[in-house]
Amino acid sequence: EAKDRGGNAFHFYVPSLQAAADLRLQMENDLRSALENGELVLYYQPQVDSERNQVLGAEALLRWEHPGHGLTHPDDFIHIAEETGLILAIGEWVIREACRQIRAWDGESSRRPLPQVSVNVSPRQFRQPDFVQRVKGILAETGVSPGRIVLELTERILLEDMEGAAERIRELQAIGARFCIDDFGMGYSSLAYLKNLPVEALKIDRSFVRDIPTDPNDVAIVETIIAMAWRFGLKVIAEGVETEEQLHFLAARGCDAYQGHLHSHAMPAVEFERHLG
Ligand code: C2E
Ligand code: MG
Ligand code: MG
Ligand code: MG
Repeated sequence: EAKDRGGNAFHFYVPSLQAAADLRLQMENDLRSALENGELVLYYQPQVDSERNQVLGAEALLRWEHPGHGLTHPDDFIHIAEETGLILAIGEWVIREACRQIRAWDGESSRRPLPQVSVNVSPRQFRQPDFVQRVKGILAETGVSPGRIVLELTERILLEDMEGAAERIRELQAIGARFCIDDFGMGYSSLAYLKNLPVEALKIDRSFVRDIPTDPNDVAIVETIIAMAWRFGLKVIAEGVETEEQLHFLAARGCDAYQGHLHSHAMPAVEFERHLG
């Protein structure tokens, strides 16, 4: 006991730090084999028109069916993937899998084709010098037309390397691929990049949506983002819409589309199909 040795709390920290390091290393090793073992899956969350309540597309969200820990969300492992570089293989798999799924859904003639699927791109993935070639390769290989894919980038990605990012975005936009800014408003106050980049939508981070319409600061932020998007000719998608009240607030101010538990959670592809009917 640390106390017996003079109350030095340091002795308590050592084992817990060690345990945390062990767990992390375990996760890292598990993640290394997750892709090969088919433990990674994409869930799909509908993106819904705020006025007509029609499904416009879906966001593909990564899940890890960990044999020991069960269904694991990206917030618990993406940072490990990013730090170890595993994100490169995982991110590429995500884009390919989303394209494969688009084609599979297209093949089912009973249903109207899903117009678009959004995929999240990590900073390290986007910074790869051959990112553009890789995406083009996947689109060609799967036969998906580039306009069916929306790449979600965070402000952090754009500001780390404005020039490089702009070049990549323009190259992919030139073949018809589409871009939006994810978690808008979270990272930076610089908006200069908006005027130069061919992105089509801003996604309002769910932390701003959560407390509307009661929190006056969040109301001000959300109203400002929507007004600004309108001035820039951009669409706005709200994340994390959970209540009718939030939806009414957003729709009344011209927010084009939303995602959130009010309409549905992210779900496996088969469930998403049933959801579309
Ligand atoms: P994000 O891209 O901002 O995705 C939105 C997150 O909000 C998702 O969490 C989604 O499940 C959750 N969400 C949707 N509606 C609601 C709601 O009404 N209420 C609440 N409380 N939450 C809602 P998820 O799936 O756990 O993903 C978390 C983050 O992980 C994503 O945030 C994204 O940044 C990252 N991520 C997900 N998939 C990928 C991927 O394939 N690649 C990379 N690099 N990152 C990914
Ligand atoms: Mg996203
Ligand atoms: Mg988001
Ligand atoms: Mg978010």
